[in-house]
Amino acid sequence: MVDTMENDKELDEIEEMILEEGKKNHSKISLLCPVCNSSNVTYYLGGQIGYMYHCKDCGYIGALVIET
Ligand SMILES: [Zn+2]
Repeated sequence: MVDTMENDKELDEIEEMILEEGKKNHSKISLLCPVCNSSNVTYYLGGQIGYMYHCKDCGYIGALVIET
C-alpha cells in the first residue's frame, strides 16, 4: 500500500514537470510582423474586435501575426 502511494506521488510530480515545460515552451513563442518580419510586435487591444497586434517598426496594426 505504501509503495502504491509513493508511485502516485511520483506521477503527480512528473505531470507537474510536463506542465511547467509546456509553459516554458509557450513563452518562447515570439510574434513576427507579417509586413516587415520584425519581432518588435506588441499586443494591441482592439476593443470589440478583440486582441490585435501592433508592429512598432512599420506601424502595422492587425489580427494577423506570424508565430514562431
Ligand atoms: Zn512591421
